Amino acid sequence: MAEEKESICKDCGLCCDGTLFQFSDISGEDVSKWDKLKTIELDGRTGIELPCSYLDNCNCSTYNDKPKICSSYSCKVLRRYDQGVLKFDDAKTIIEKTKSLMAEFEGEFNEHFVYNKGIPLAKNIQKMVEVVGGQEEFKTFATDHEDFGMALRDLRKVIKNQFRAQKKNEGKSKPK
Ligand code: SF4
Ligand code: SF4
Repeated sequence: MAEEKESICKDCGLCCDGTLFQFSDISGEDVSKWDKLKTIELDGRTGIELPCSYLDNCNCSTYNDKPKICSSYSCKVLRRYDQGVLKFDDAKTIIEKTKSLMAEFEGEFNEHFVYNKGIPLAKNIQKMVEVVGGQEEFKTFATDHEDFGMALRDLRKVIKNQFRAQKKNEGKSKPK
């Protein structure tokens, strides 16, 4: 079971690569221990800048001894797997599907702008909102460019339904 769980995360990395979150809260103690970590300040909180510098492709290169927030965090896929609600193969399928939706969205994004893989998904969208002139203009853009709008909707839906916390305080320390 522990090996299966490790294999689920090692094929994923979505909570570390900027797809699910912009940063992860971290303590000062952990910042000094993992000196390769880049940190940022957001809303008065210190966090790991994502994509994380310990991420090697989609694997955490410090998986067996990682910052506290990373050891304590489980996304909804992992929690449902732990509870026996989700089978191993189904967890893998959700991750594959999400990655394929992410690739599709990047493709659509690149039709109009340049997707920057070095910053989180939310920041790429934020930059695009600024370029088109604001939230309302962005909504209009997504409606007018149907494939782009659909790719964004599908991606947001799978992230919200499959990975996000159901209760307000779950996963709170990894803000999106
Ligand atoms: S998003 Fe979930 S399954 Fe993926 S690496 Fe993070 S905790 Fe593991
Ligand atoms: S240290 Fe590892 S688990 Fe934590 S954010 Fe970085 S890559 Fe992810």
